[in-house]
Amino acid sequence: MNIHEYQAKALLRDCGAPVSDGRVVLKAEDAKTAAGALDGPLWVVKAQIHAGGRGKGHFKEASAGEKGGVRLTKSVGEAAEEALKMLGRTLVTHQSGEAGKVVNRVYIEDGSGIETELYLALLVDRQTSRISFVCSTEGGMDIEEVAASTPEKILSFSVDPATGYQGYHGRRVAFSLGLKGGQIKQCVKLMGQLYDLFVSKDMEMLEINPLIVTDSGDLKCLDAKMGFDGNALYRHADILALRDETEEDPKELAASKYDLNYIALDGEIGCMVNGAGLAMATMDIIKLYGAEPANFLDVGGGATKEKVTEAFKIITSDPNVKGILVNIFGGIMRCDVIAEGVIAAVKEVGLQVPLVVRLEGTNVEKGKEIINNSGLAVIAADDLKDGAQKIVKAVKG
Ligand code: GDP
Ligand code: MN
Repeated sequence: MNIHEYQAKALLRDCGAPVSDGRVVLKAEDAKTAAGALDGPLWVVKAQIHAGGRGKGHFKEASAGEKGGVRLTKSVGEAAEEALKMLGRTLVTHQSGEAGKVVNRVYIEDGSGIETELYLALLVDRQTSRISFVCSTEGGMDIEEVAASTPEKILSFSVDPATGYQGYHGRRVAFSLGLKGGQIKQCVKLMGQLYDLFVSKDMEMLEINPLIVTDSGDLKCLDAKMGFDGNALYRHADILALRDETEEDPKELAASKYDLNYIALDGEIGCMVNGAGLAMATMDIIKLYGAEPANFLDVGGGATKEKVTEAFKIITSDPNVKGILVNIFGGIMRCDVIAEGVIAAVKEVGLQVPLVVRLEGTNVEKGKEIINNSGLAVIAADDLKDGAQKIVKAVKG
């Protein structure tokens, strides 16, 4: 789960990390009060969306020469005016996709004088199963671009969880970023604060881009992006409260409410599968036979009729879906129960596209019988290969 920049900055502020003072604006009429609460003489107005690259992004239907989602202003009035221009409009960035994202919140922040822009991130390194620091002198830029063109400018190292964060980790970051004097001490302290926050909140990713040296020579977090491990959210009510559902794919949101593991993709064949491994295999074999999966969906081991119905609703709400492949292994669940669930779901939701069902496991014969006698235009398949071939043929002809 991701959160907005202003929320991430509040978490940083709470743990003592240096960030500017700022106010979030949700309603146009509050913009002036928000800007007026800050000292100036510089006010930065920042669109809050769950996508990076806002500064270089552009609004849909922008007027000629109009700036992107990060604007520097020099008065309360000007700041409020820019905030009003952003609210309710769609911002397109290289991370938002062509459709862009609607700006429902704007953050007005005390502007900083910048000496240098640096890059810093903490993430879980799957190779070492440890938390890694990633830093670079090339701040404010797209780090993927830096990694591609000048990888030598990125330093990355992981922290041994047995020792945890140590001062030398922070000094390593400081030296690689070319920091001097008091900045080194600031860096050691800040890296420790970030590491502790990362661990205590079960983050997956924390990116400060840019981390700046201000014109008075101090470190400050100018931007902040945080991602949290969804499986750990149950023990972080404070983080869960920061969730902005309008930023999420509506299909994925509906799925999460029914405890379905669903990820939207852009292919044409909807998949309903139990078990993540089988779901992956199903996606692979669809591709093997020349089509693309429209989603990953694991309905779980104890799929009830309600869950199956909900899963069907989500799959069929995707206009790209031209056919559906149900691939269920009845282990704990019995195939006849699943077949009844599928039939009930199809009857409730209705079906405009071909449906192939492949069942295997306990009571499989009974399950197939139920499917065949349902009177619905369901195509039964014998195995995974047969199922994939049948649905691809039904969709592609
Ligand atoms: P992003 O484009 O979504 O990554 O948004 P950022 O918060 O990183 O802002 C983009 C760029 O705007 C930064 O790299 C800075 O160059 C600039 N910027 C943001 N805040 C300030 C500020 O307080 N003062 C100045 N001078 N520039 C800023
Ligand atoms: Mn940034």
